[in-house]
Amino acid sequence: MSKQKTVIVGAGPVGALAALYAAGRGHEVEVYELRGDLRDPDTVPLNFTKSINLALSERGINGLRKANVSGLLESVLEETIPMHGRMIHGAKQGEFYEESQNYDIYGRAIRAVDRAGLNKRLLDELDKMPNVKLLFNHKLVGADFKKNKAWFERRDEGVRQDHAQNPTQGKEASHASSEIEVPFDFMIGADGAHSAVRYHLMKFTRMSYQQEYIDTLWCEFHMDPSATNDFQISPNHLHIWPGKEFMFIAIPSLDKSFTSTLFLPAKIFAELDKNPESLVDFFNKNFPGVAGKLIPEAELQKQYKENPHLPLISIKCSPYHFGSSAVILGDSAHAMVPFYGQGMNAGLEDVRVLFEYLDANTQDASGRAKALDEYSRNRAPDAAAINDLALRNYQEMRADVVSPVYRLRKWIEEK
Ligand code: FAD
Repeated sequence: MSKQKTVIVGAGPVGALAALYAAGRGHEVEVYELRGDLRDPDTVPLNFTKSINLALSERGINGLRKANVSGLLESVLEETIPMHGRMIHGAKQGEFYEESQNYDIYGRAIRAVDRAGLNKRLLDELDKMPNVKLLFNHKLVGADFKKNKAWFERRDEGVRQDHAQNPTQGKEASHASSEIEVPFDFMIGADGAHSAVRYHLMKFTRMSYQQEYIDTLWCEFHMDPSATNDFQISPNHLHIWPGKEFMFIAIPSLDKSFTSTLFLPAKIFAELDKNPESLVDFFNKNFPGVAGKLIPEAELQKQYKENPHLPLISIKCSPYHFGSSAVILGDSAHAMVPFYGQGMNAGLEDVRVLFEYLDANTQDASGRAKALDEYSRNRAPDAAAINDLALRNYQEMRADVVSPVYRLRKWIEEK
């Protein structure tokens, strides 16, 4: 019997982990990624000026653990910084203050991880596996889930030579030299919030779909290490400057800098855009201790101007699959706002949960169809709940962390 051919679309953290799981089960795996190889210095990470650091929690850690790749989890965790709680920043009567709020009474922590570092680590593991082909600069442009064929547009100039030989078993499509046709037994779509796999899947299955842009944009900032090359603020906290209707946060990096993010309603961004000189005053009023102290004023202005102001989308859909042919995971199935720090974690968890269902069924098309049906039915409500919690946690982070009600509730919980 020939090996099952599993095509993964998207080599982000979720697609790369899914490829490891499939390869570990002996599938013949091909991973198609729109962009160049993240490990090439010239590849710019999607949406970010540089790589950002994210909060990695048990949900995601367990997904990595269950990949059963020797040394993988240990090496990922070595490159993380534990954050035991959040640090709330403010000012009272002209004095800056910090207040530490632990996440867990047992001292457990979430971990700051470099997204690109984690992604590269997974790609390095895939490189070692003889049954995996990584195909960069390949964009999914079409799919037929009844015939189990997909079409990819190939940008030839950037294809890595070591992965470019015999890239597919499919035939070159005759109508466009840059388009290839790829047959598959099973496709996993992990191509992010604007998923092409999801778009094509919708034509084959009665997928309910809901998307929402919240009225908040985000802009990334960078906080350098101190003059003595140390962290400027505590490395073991997720730092929050709550502003009721908006907030500024900072997450530590191994190089002792912080990746910071400004979250603001679109109309305030528009006001600041019209009057850029007011940015420092705005920071001084709302995020005390940042401008001129943690980030030099000129640098703050520059980063605000140069870094994009990006939207935040929340997506729910169901079902996630069609027959035995395809399933979507990660942001492509349930992109969420970042306030609960669970988008990537939930995506890594998707991979673990999906393969539990696949393992529990027969390894043929009918077993896979049953597994995908069970996966969709059970996973979609869980993912929708995390989406809702993520939306709700914005209120918590930007306002409730300082409200008297929050303090009272916390006090009652601790009694
Ligand atoms: P992506 O990372 O979007 O990867 C999808 C991949 O598919 C990309 O490489 C893309 O190039 C490729 N692709 C797209 N279209 C095609 C196509 N047509 N053909 C082939 N390839 C394609 N999550 C957390 O868990 N913790 C956090 O603290 C956290 N903080 C965040 C902060 C911010 C500001 C933002 C915006 C997000 C945050 N997230 C966080 C969410 C996290 O970044 C995402 O959930 C995660 O990156 C999703 O991974 P993914 O692999 O599903 O999709």
